[in-house]
Amino acid sequence: MDEKVDKIIGLLKHSRNTVVVTGAGISTEAGIPDFRGENGIYKKLGENRVMSIINSDFFHRSPDKFYEFYRENFMFEPVQPSLAHLVLADMEKRGAIKAIVTQNIDNLHQKAGSKRVIAIHGNSDRYLCTRKSCSSVYDGLYVDNCPQIVPTCSVCGSILKPDVVLFGEQIHNYLDAQESILRSRLIVVIGSSLSVYPLAGFIKEFSTFTQDLIIINKGYTLMDHAATVKVDTSNTGALLEQICQRL
Ligand SMILES: [Zn+2]
Repeated sequence: MDEKVDKIIGLLKHSRNTVVVTGAGISTEAGIPDFRGENGIYKKLGENRVMSIINSDFFHRSPDKFYEFYRENFMFEPVQPSLAHLVLADMEKRGAIKAIVTQNIDNLHQKAGSKRVIAIHGNSDRYLCTRKSCSSVYDGLYVDNCPQIVPTCSVCGSILKPDVVLFGEQIHNYLDAQESILRSRLIVVIGSSLSVYPLAGFIKEFSTFTQDLIIINKGYTLMDHAATVKVDTSNTGALLEQICQRL
């Protein structure tokens, strides 16, 4: 393990453009369930059922049923960032990383203090007014406190939509994410098995041209063969702290 840590530190020190890519694994350390994991709702309720409800058409057709399900399965008590989130924010402050591209919608990187966060699946702590000309934005607290099940805009009365990518919708910041990844010299993947496209495709493309790919994940990922260093751990926070202290 020490050898791997030394190697990661060497790579980080020599890279002038490091981008971190994060997935559900980093947030399970903060206590957020992995939707696709063993006890996640995809396994519990069946992927097809979830996909048919957390779906753009369904939202517009039956917002009341959508919100009934969404409130029960996707809205959580506020959670604090994990040590891993905090160390990453610190690394950005110190210039060791340029940006974070995340698949997570939990807002924890932002909460930890990271400035440049490209959240490709959106942010579950944001709700947007569906009336185009209105463009009001609300947070989770506002929606929690709405007396009716479908939250509405306090300015115009239209219904609010969670600012997360539903099935049937394009990912957010596609070009920004792609460009950040392809322009970087070093990618550090944390807590993602790299099985979800298009992000997995960006990493594949990156690793075709550039060697320096670090993967920190509990278990196998689809890009293990291409990694310069792969660390299998469920304690990312401790590992990152150890690395950060020596940068
Ligand atoms: Zn409005």
